[in-house]
Amino acid sequence: MPSMAANNFSRNTHQNQTKGDFVSRKQKIEQQRKNLPIAAVERRLVEEVRNNDTLIIVGETGSGKTTQLPQYLFKWGFCRDGGIIGITQPRRVAAITVAKRVAEECGIPLGQKVGYAIRFEDVTSGQTKIKYMTDGLLLREALLDPYLSKYSVIIVDEAHERTIHTDVLLGLLKNVQKARSKSINGVVNTDHNNSNNGHALEERIDNQNDGILKSCQVKKYNPLKLIIMSASLDARVFSEYFGGAKAVHVQGRQFPVDIFYTHKPETDCIDAALITIFQIHLEEGPGDVLVFLTGQEEIESVERLIHERLRQLPECSRKLLTFPIFSSLPSEKQMRVFMPSPAGHRKVILATNIAETSVTIPGIRYVVDPGLVKARTYDPKMGVDSLIIVTTSKAQALQRSGRAGRDGPGKCYRLYQESFFEKLTDSTLPEIKRCDLSNVVLQLKALGIDDVINFDFIEKPDRTAVVNSLWSLYLLGAVTEDNKLSDVGRQMARLPLDPVYSKALIVASQFGCLKEMLICVAMLSVESIFYAPREKLEESRNALKSFASPEGDHLTLLNVYRAADEFFQKNKMVHSEEKAEKNLRKWCKDNYINSRSLKHARDIHSQVVRNVEQMGLRVTSCEDDTLLLRRCLAASFFLKAAMKQPDGAYRVTLSGLIVQIHPSSVLFRAKPECIVFNELVHTNHSYVRNVSRIDYLWLIELAPHLYAVQD
Ligand code: ADP
Ligand code: MG
Repeated sequence: MPSMAANNFSRNTHQNQTKGDFVSRKQKIEQQRKNLPIAAVERRLVEEVRNNDTLIIVGETGSGKTTQLPQYLFKWGFCRDGGIIGITQPRRVAAITVAKRVAEECGIPLGQKVGYAIRFEDVTSGQTKIKYMTDGLLLREALLDPYLSKYSVIIVDEAHERTIHTDVLLGLLKNVQKARSKSINGVVNTDHNNSNNGHALEERIDNQNDGILKSCQVKKYNPLKLIIMSASLDARVFSEYFGGAKAVHVQGRQFPVDIFYTHKPETDCIDAALITIFQIHLEEGPGDVLVFLTGQEEIESVERLIHERLRQLPECSRKLLTFPIFSSLPSEKQMRVFMPSPAGHRKVILATNIAETSVTIPGIRYVVDPGLVKARTYDPKMGVDSLIIVTTSKAQALQRSGRAGRDGPGKCYRLYQESFFEKLTDSTLPEIKRCDLSNVVLQLKALGIDDVINFDFIEKPDRTAVVNSLWSLYLLGAVTEDNKLSDVGRQMARLPLDPVYSKALIVASQFGCLKEMLICVAMLSVESIFYAPREKLEESRNALKSFASPEGDHLTLLNVYRAADEFFQKNKMVHSEEKAEKNLRKWCKDNYINSRSLKHARDIHSQVVRNVEQMGLRVTSCEDDTLLLRRCLAASFFLKAAMKQPDGAYRVTLSGLIVQIHPSSVLFRAKPECIVFNELVHTNHSYVRNVSRIDYLWLIELAPHLYAVQD
């Protein structure tokens, strides 16, 4: 049991009472809105936006920035010229849940005045005036509309998160704003004494033969209002970047939170979290619990374990409800976390770091923080991008504990020692410093920004990382020897996928197996298709056998998708769509397939099929010619190939890294001589996942620029 050492421990069981039943939901929402800290400064904020083209707003999480500011701006006429208000979020869950909330606050159906758009899902219409979206999506929009002409205001929310997309977006928006104000003064294409970045947009407009873009040269744009919102107190970095832009602070409301640490290090963090949850449930006063976990798998296993332990408790102690929230959770389930707990029940919210600042869930009084987060990391020497579990920064730990003090005094249980906290870094390294840049470099190039190294980033990425990504884009044929975007690169940039997957689709259209590759790519783009709970490992392995292909994981994924699709289509012939979906979920459960991930893959598949059709690629099938498909995998994924070593480990051909095949792979035991793979995971070893058996000679034949006959 983690023993908690109290810091200034003080017990306070006060809890906000829900309003009486006679208050309608509409009135209640109105009341909640009025009580938000931001409501007190509505007029002042609107004035500041009016007087400043770029404004930085810093405010504590939960003060009402994300949900209220767009509504204020709409109300005060910022859409009058026909423009719309766009709000970017680093995470899609935030974009969805906030848009739903705001639509409800406005008393209108989602997708009309208020909507959201994320990759693979667009819930907006011609009427939409307040549009929530992911930062990555706005970047894609810029490819089609370099002036982002439909927006009168763009709010970059959660800027402190410093995701790679936010960082690139900030640079881009700076250009767009400059270019739009120049267009008003009628100087587009005449002033070339600009920085590299100011140029890029103008040059792109010069170079394009596209009718829409040509019209940009004569069109005058309304100025773009830019608002950067952040939860961190340090506005200086944003203000400096935007030439001394004004920063305003919105005072939050924060009750004291007692912090508890463990006396000794915890070895099993899931177990420690469970014990703490039950300790709170059985010993503490009312209030909901928020637990920070690292991802879907961990959340699902903690949820299962909570229910198991609950069954062992007496009936009267079982009033504990669990609510997961993570990005691939279907959106109707995501909204459930906001529902108040029924009388006498306690809610436990199992969340990824999405609940750190992006979404504020009312009613939380207890936070359980194991101090870990799943983060992207990049090893520029090895050219390897991977998701690993790392410790949080001090800033993250503070944000997490702050979640307990929104509605009253709270408690935060950090599942580590106080001395450990002292050793944490102050803040998290921006993502641009720790991830593979190929996608961003490709997008910037597609936006006409060729000199990526000199792009006006808020913080420059490492030169080696940029050079490496240029090199891999060159090897993929996306950029030419003189570093210009090739035709293939232009096609790749149009697809909403990782460049390697986009390339795979283009290659597959030439091989005549695009139908199969579309499925592989969709399945590879989602987290964990297979569902293998610890206590049912044997059963789940047996279930996998019926899909397993001796040729590798790609063909196995293809088999799963096809089997699921066949099952679904058969059901649809005799049942309603809804019933067929329900049966499919049951089928997934029986086969130890994660139905959420499968659903997500099916959605991605249908969107990407539309994309490739629009691009004019031929969707043909190779039928049962799996050899052809594997040759196509080799031709697509040659950057990640590995050869077996005498000791059974594998050596990655390009980096020399020694890896093992992950135990979840169908090739774990077979250990073929040569493989391609898609993913590298680091735990105690370096493992590769999504592996297929290939022939080294294919690499020589299909990627001759990299591979030669071995001695
Ligand atoms: P900020 O952006 O400043 O962190 P938000 O605008 O996200 O604040 O949240 C303001 C308030 O709205 C919070 O108290 C939060 O609990 C509430 N809220 C946000 N989304 C929902 C929702 N879907 N259901 C109920 N309350 C919500
Ligand atoms: Mg917010």
